[in-house]
Amino acid sequence: MHNEGADGAEYFVCDFCLNTWSDDRPMVEGHRGALVCSHCLSIAFSELVHLRSGSPVEPGETCVLCLEPDRPGLHWRSPVREEAIGCIRCIKQSAGVLHKDPDHAWTKPAPINAEGGSDD
Ligand SMILES: [Zn+2]
Ligand SMILES: [Zn+2]
Repeated sequence: MHNEGADGAEYFVCDFCLNTWSDDRPMVEGHRGALVCSHCLSIAFSELVHLRSGSPVEPGETCVLCLEPDRPGLHWRSPVREEAIGCIRCIKQSAGVLHKDPDHAWTKPAPINAEGGSDD
């Protein structure tokens, strides 16, 4: 979302965690100015794509990034703003955009069980 009363980085506010834009928090824009930051994308991508754990969506709730009602598939719900949900399609799409963005080092999170498997 956009904070109409602010300038610069403060103007860009992640719809899911309400943090403002910064160099280590790039954002991807959805429809109608909805924004999702890299931190939220990391969590959402891991949960939806790797863990296949999403939140149930109530009838009438829409993904804030595409605003399409009653989309099938998993959704990720913001832990900060209950009304902010993102569908798996938008999360994957946004992650793809940021992953390819040469201005930012962000990459799609790796599967959680692929790292740090201890054999001791
Ligand atoms: Zn965020
Ligand atoms: Zn969506």
